Order: sequence, then structure tokens, then C-alpha cells
Amino acid sequence: MKWKNLFPINKIPYLKNKKNINHCILCEIIKGSCIEKDLTIYKNALISIMLNLYPYNPGHIMILPNRHIEDIRELNDNEEKNITYYTKKIMDLLEKEYNSQSFNIGYNIGKFSGASISHLHLHIVPRYPNELGFIDIISGSKLIVEDPTLTRDKLREVIKKYI
Ligand SMILES: [Zn+2]
Repeated sequence: MKWKNLFPINKIPYLKNKKNINHCILCEIIKGSCIEKDLTIYKNALISIMLNLYPYNPGHIMILPNRHIEDIRELNDNEEKNITYYTKKIMDLLEKEYNSQSFNIGYNIGKFSGASISHLHLHIVPRYPNELGFIDIISGSKLIVEDPTLTRDKLREVIKKYI
């Protein structure tokens, strides 16, 4: 086997970008310099709440610190309190507005975790009875019918009832 086959040379520009926080899509959205991908439904001085651009399910929401950090151990107390507080509010919202009865809530941290964006973000994924299975999702046969920009506009109003 040749050495070049052992080295994922095509990954180098990607890894370099990952280290450069100027290219972080979430930082750009938070700064307001990426309006076309901005699915923010709420923002304060410390945290932002956004719809996921590629939702796993309708109502898939992310809560993230506005600071570019990549590990929960870097969160300060106020960020931590905000994230916990708003996680509970988003669960209330999803229960009432989306009739979801179950949730997956969690972080992907580190390069082998499946995280596609290094900027720390907490996923809140509502789960529904009789969902299609994992195979339907990875094969792309699962269709998300909601237009994310319409959902965003709706939830920007709706969230005011819950926070
Ligand atoms: Zn960032």
C-alpha cells in the first residue's frame, strides 16, 4: 500500500477551516453576516436558539453559546444557566406547539463524535410516535415538509409565549 493512500489528503483544507473560527458558520450567523442561513428564533447577550438547517425531525432546535467554544467544559456559569433554562422552555414549546412527547437532547463534542460544526451546540430533537426509522433518514427517503424559513418566522413569534 502506498503511503498517500493512508493519508486523507482531501481533508486538509477542511481541517484547516475548522481551526479558523472566522469560517465558523454559527459565528457568522450570530454576528449577522450570514443572513441566508440564519434560522435564529431567539438571541440574548449569551446564547442563541436556532432551528437546525438540516433537521432530523420537525422542530429540531439548537441552543448555543454566542462565544465560539467547542467543549461544555468551557461554558461559564451564566451560559450554562441560560442553556438549561432555555432547554426547558423549548421543551415546553415543542410539547405544546408540536405535540412532541419525547426528546433527544445532547451535544456532539470532538472530531469523532459526528459533529459537523465545531462550535458547541446543544441539539433538542423532538420525537414522535410512529416515526420513520433510522434507515429512512440516512437513505434520504424521509421528507421534512416544513420550509425552515417559514418555521423560523412562526417560532420567532411563538417563542415569546414561553420565555
Ligand atoms: Zn463559532
